[in-house]
Amino acid sequence: MGIGALPGCSCLTLLKAVDDNQRPTWCAPEKGGTQKQDVKIRKAKATGRSGLMKDIATLSRILMHATSSANEAFGEGLPLSKTDEWAAASRGLIAGLPDGGITGPDGRKSWDIADFDFLKEGPPATVNPSLWRMAQLNAISGLFEVTRDIWQARAFDYANMTIIRGDAGWIIVDPLMAQETAAAALKVVNETLGERPVSAIIITHTHPDHFGGIRGVADPDNPPPIYAPDGFMEYAASEGILGGNHTSRRAVYQFGISLSTGPEGLVDGGIGKTVAKGQRTFIPPSAFIAETGAERVIDGVRFVFMMASGTEAPAEFTFFMPDHRTLCMAEVCTQTMHNLMPPRGAQVRDALLWARCIDDALALFGEQAEILINCHNWPVWGRAELCLFLEEQRDLYKYIHDQTLRLANLGKTPHEIAASIREPDWMADKFHGRGYYGSLTFNARAVYQKYYGFFDGNPVNLNPLSPEALGHRFVDAVGGHERALSIAEQAVEADDLQWAATVLSNLVFSPDQSDHARKLLALVYRHMGFRAESGIMRNIYLTGAMELEEGVKPLPMAGGRNADLAATLSVQDWFDAFALRLDPERARGVDIAIEFVIGDKTVCVSVKRQTEFARLGATDAKADAKVSISLGLLEQLAAGEISLDDAVADGADIQGSGKALRQWLELHHSFDMWFNIVTP
Ligand SMILES: [Zn+2]
Repeated sequence: MGIGALPGCSCLTLLKAVDDNQRPTWCAPEKGGTQKQDVKIRKAKATGRSGLMKDIATLSRILMHATSSANEAFGEGLPLSKTDEWAAASRGLIAGLPDGGITGPDGRKSWDIADFDFLKEGPPATVNPSLWRMAQLNAISGLFEVTRDIWQARAFDYANMTIIRGDAGWIIVDPLMAQETAAAALKVVNETLGERPVSAIIITHTHPDHFGGIRGVADPDNPPPIYAPDGFMEYAASEGILGGNHTSRRAVYQFGISLSTGPEGLVDGGIGKTVAKGQRTFIPPSAFIAETGAERVIDGVRFVFMMASGTEAPAEFTFFMPDHRTLCMAEVCTQTMHNLMPPRGAQVRDALLWARCIDDALALFGEQAEILINCHNWPVWGRAELCLFLEEQRDLYKYIHDQTLRLANLGKTPHEIAASIREPDWMADKFHGRGYYGSLTFNARAVYQKYYGFFDGNPVNLNPLSPEALGHRFVDAVGGHERALSIAEQAVEADDLQWAATVLSNLVFSPDQSDHARKLLALVYRHMGFRAESGIMRNIYLTGAMELEEGVKPLPMAGGRNADLAATLSVQDWFDAFALRLDPERARGVDIAIEFVIGDKTVCVSVKRQTEFARLGATDAKADAKVSISLGLLEQLAAGEISLDDAVADGADIQGSGKALRQWLELHHSFDMWFNIVTP
């Protein structure tokens, strides 16, 4: 990642540079500016650059000084030298990750924990010290013995893979995100503990970091039994499909996928390092668990399941292994505050249900469990410790829920609530409650959204201006481009970063934007990232900064799309997802109907009133065309990978007007993932 504003300066050098730097000689013009300054501004506009503006390097030095002080002050409020978590995160280590990283089939690296070796040093000025501590803990990697017959592979990928000794082989819980990382973890297991087959797989929930690597541990033609929560198929494929392109793009921000690792880049993702690059795969589960209390003996091991659907994921379960006295809370509990609304975008989660679910686990298993494992981060050992951990995790979500609603019922709106809500006192020395993944203010807004939606009741927000329309008017209203820049610079000098970013973002979204405004906004975002305690908020700021400076650079997203999973989409989901692509301009005046026969299903698709609708299980004698085709061929046709003639040659049968089918296909957009976010 290029970070031109900080050209290899050590923190000390920067501090000295600021100390040596006398107060700026330039002062912002008075409101409205003097006549002389107005002339200068007009002149500057004509040449595109102003002599009034400070250079970025000067502002960068000012900000570096402020960031260093802010991070130091943040650290002073926390017991950062506490070592309990270090012992827990390192306990039971029996094997490391493969040297040289994990390579994908295309020869590119899928994962290399050595990319995070820089974390062995003390915290730099460019990282919040609390996040740095968490980043160090999440970098403790390898195969760990949790207790007799239970191991965890940690930091082989974003999530943990848990391995349980069954009678005949390994029971794998959550086979990671990429085929390569899951296979590498299993290889280390077999080399360290002795080669055994995989006798069963348990997938705790619908998020891809917990199942995308499944073909790395199982043969799709002869898979072992695969257990998943009821509703898994409905959500795993469909959740990502309808909103998928938008979410994928924002996930690049959340997980820092385009950032380089390092003290000025990616350091941590809160619940793990980041997502592995590599092949994402799928094998459909063969057994579904629908009820709390459901007991199963899986390869000789007793499991008692507890449903957690609607908390961290729409379909999720936790389980207790009575013979091992071990409780797995899936992703309902982690060693940090989770997201009630992931910034990548998802349906909002239910904080109250989340808290109740943790309390149910406490009531059901708290008297028996001696060890608590989660599908991210490290375990908790000891009954008293795990009960306290569960109580605190429960109260974390309950507190955010209740305080948000208390403030809302006192009449506050989301941004007012975020400004008012205070961290509960216990979080000052209990790191597992802190926001390394979610954050208190973001989560409070999520609770508001769950109950009240995006509108806050104020008429001005019934139909707000679009960012470009607002930017244009804002810059005009403050007196033009140079004046807006000078307001932003004063905000930077006053270390008022959110205000500086607000002014600069309006500038960047105005027609009057300049290279200088973009660079200055990048600088401000970068320092907001440097101070963030949440790893993913840091990633979002830093990715925004990078794209402001370098533009949007599409990445070769090896494994970004899970074709195995897409192939399991229901016919209804496929047509609903394709209908989203209908361009209403192209569809103006169009009235067509096509009947599809896909396997044993019929679907009537109509386009009328600039809207596409697919009715499953219906036939239409008046359809313009009748098409028998496989979903795979239809997908290729829709993606423009094959022609109509190719489809017919491959077995599709078209009766009636082939023209209607062609016209229908041409009504649809294709989606480009690499849309702009920080610029218009
Ligand atoms: Zn996860």
